[in-house]
Amino acid sequence: MQSWLVMPDEVEPKILEWQERYPALVHVDHVQQYCGLKAYAVTISDKSVPDAEKKKHIFSQPHAHEPAPTAACMNVMNQLLERRGLDGNPTQLAVDALLSKTLLSFIADGNPDGRSRSPERYWDGTKWSNEEFWKWMRGIDAETGEAFKRVDRWSTREDHPKRIGIVYEQINEHEYVEPNRSWESSFFRLIHMLLDRHEYDQLLDLHQTEFVNSPSNCMVILPVLQDELPPEIRESNAAWAEEIVAAWATAGGHPRPEPRPLSYKGQQREYFVQRWGHIYRRLSKLTSEVQNNNVATPPLEQRRLTEIAIRVSAERLLR
Ligand SMILES: [Zn+2]
Repeated sequence: MQSWLVMPDEVEPKILEWQERYPALVHVDHVQQYCGLKAYAVTISDKSVPDAEKKKHIFSQPHAHEPAPTAACMNVMNQLLERRGLDGNPTQLAVDALLSKTLLSFIADGNPDGRSRSPERYWDGTKWSNEEFWKWMRGIDAETGEAFKRVDRWSTREDHPKRIGIVYEQINEHEYVEPNRSWESSFFRLIHMLLDRHEYDQLLDLHQTEFVNSPSNCMVILPVLQDELPPEIRESNAAWAEEIVAAWATAGGHPRPEPRPLSYKGQQREYFVQRWGHIYRRLSKLTSEVQNNNVATPPLEQRRLTEIAIRVSAERLLR
């Protein structure tokens, strides 16, 4: 799988190569992680066209145990710049219109620290049970031997997991954060850097989940505050979600038909209200989920379904 770029030592050189070869199209930002690795945001647009005339989109990927969205972002960026996928096949994207009429920012890997500690470049369901997979994700609790807790931040001053989960990012000598749930993560530092610079129209957060006991292998999740958002954002979210679901169904995916708001309760819900609320109220924001760690959805299918969500999201800005 040479076209599958997910590890920091695969992603970083390709981004730096694009920056060097396409200075008229590529802008690169980065933040430094405590571990020494850099997390990147790559913005692609024709710089000769004023930004004010363009629709703007962020595609982001916070979770190290969900590599297909990283592979998808890298493949889509390659299509925008090289007009072919990383496998050499010609692109189906409306490249010229996207470059001149939109500005597309990609955080292909928001946590290279976690990704570099992953034992796998993809999760195809042949090697690890979901229980074992979740112990790679969250880590292993030293007392129970079960998966470690999922919190916004924790410290080795209080907790001593037997294994540190790859979902976490180390931010100083003792502390770790969950990128999607803490503003101190490299992921959120990059998101806030982008939002401070441009008025974005849409943000698609790219995820994977296991779809245990479900006939589906992809779904769109609306913001946890969907029902309380201003009408124009609420309606835009709903229409956009339907378009992604329809495209998946047409392309042979198995989407959950009804997009619903994030169903978390209690503390997990609060994380999203507190960390994402200001973004929900400012622009259209959806989450896509594609099946992970299941033989029903092999890695290249995981990437293809994620790319469909990206394509539909970007091309709707051209209307
Ligand atoms: Zn996720």
